[in-house]
Amino acid sequence: MRFEFATANRIVFGPGTLREAGAAAREFGRRALVVTGRAGRHSEQLLDLLAAEGVAATVFAIAGEPTIDGVIAATGAARRHRCDLVIGLGGGSSIDAAKAVSALLTNPGDPLDYLEVVGRGLPLTKPAAPCITIPTTAGTGAEVTRNAVLTSPDRQVKVSLRSPLLLPRLALVDPELTMALPPGLTASTGLDALTQLIEPYVSIRANPLSDGFCTEGIARIARALRPAFHDGSNAAAREDMALASLLGGLALANAGLGAVHGFAAPIGGMFSAPHGAVCAALLPQVMEANLQAAHERAATEEIDNRYARIARLLTGDPAATPEDGVRWVRGLVADLRIPPLRTYGITSESVPALVEKAARASSMKANPLPLTPDELTAVLQAAL
Ligand SMILES: [Zn+2]
Repeated sequence: MRFEFATANRIVFGPGTLREAGAAAREFGRRALVVTGRAGRHSEQLLDLLAAEGVAATVFAIAGEPTIDGVIAATGAARRHRCDLVIGLGGGSSIDAAKAVSALLTNPGDPLDYLEVVGRGLPLTKPAAPCITIPTTAGTGAEVTRNAVLTSPDRQVKVSLRSPLLLPRLALVDPELTMALPPGLTASTGLDALTQLIEPYVSIRANPLSDGFCTEGIARIARALRPAFHDGSNAAAREDMALASLLGGLALANAGLGAVHGFAAPIGGMFSAPHGAVCAALLPQVMEANLQAAHERAATEEIDNRYARIARLLTGDPAATPEDGVRWVRGLVADLRIPPLRTYGITSESVPALVEKAARASSMKANPLPLTPDELTAVLQAAL
């Protein structure tokens, strides 16, 4: 056995912990760039906390998912205001943008020098400026991951800036910040979290540390996602979901993902579709395809055992079979009113191109076993 595990320098979790953000920021710098989403949820509260500690702040709002140009602009703003600290407050988009800005502030040259696929993919060499991540959704786990997903609209792809240097100095996870999330966002981000716990658990890079995070997180989502969806003010359910999301981030950053995220990358590049909803629509199909492929290739035992454990955690039934787990997820996706992928304009005509791009996606390499182009086509068709 050999594995590595790396995460944020420090993780603070708990209801009300946002109140610690001002004092924590002061340890890192005096001028913060605060990257938020369009809505800027909770940004006034954060700005007050920073001001109370004498930390000056410049707000940069990212509209939608961060683009390469958006991150260049945010880095320029941080330089102009001589920021020595970056804070990402929001969903995965704001947090990924903040992580990218923190690295680009200290590493010279053009962002394209460091980007995979569309750029030169050079390694970042200088430690990033201190970065604090504060999620306001419960799903992406981006507060503890070591990549930043950026879109390149002209090339219709999503690419990552990847480096251990992107790991934040502090991840501050306050479940109270997710209380106001509407049901639709609770559903899509929560199902992204579930996907990010199931995929690392069956990944070829799974390790005993990530396994522990995954099983703990899956059990919490099984009991909390429906209650959080039906009653956003359920504090216990919100706490479970925020913790499950964090656990998913810890797991995926160290054990990788799988075919669901292999598809989500090119779909997100070519279509305007929320990441979590795309993952949710694909999750039961991929679980089913992996099980079927394992049976056909007589590679069943380990894969079956892992899907059976997932099924037991989800259903609470000690006799649950892997197929019961697939049925449970399919039922959850339907109850949470996740629409099929055709809603976003994805049709049969796009399938060959998406299958070809998905097969080459980095997440696909961690899938428990390689799926053939025909199997991938069947997965995508079933999610349309
Ligand atoms: Zn995801």
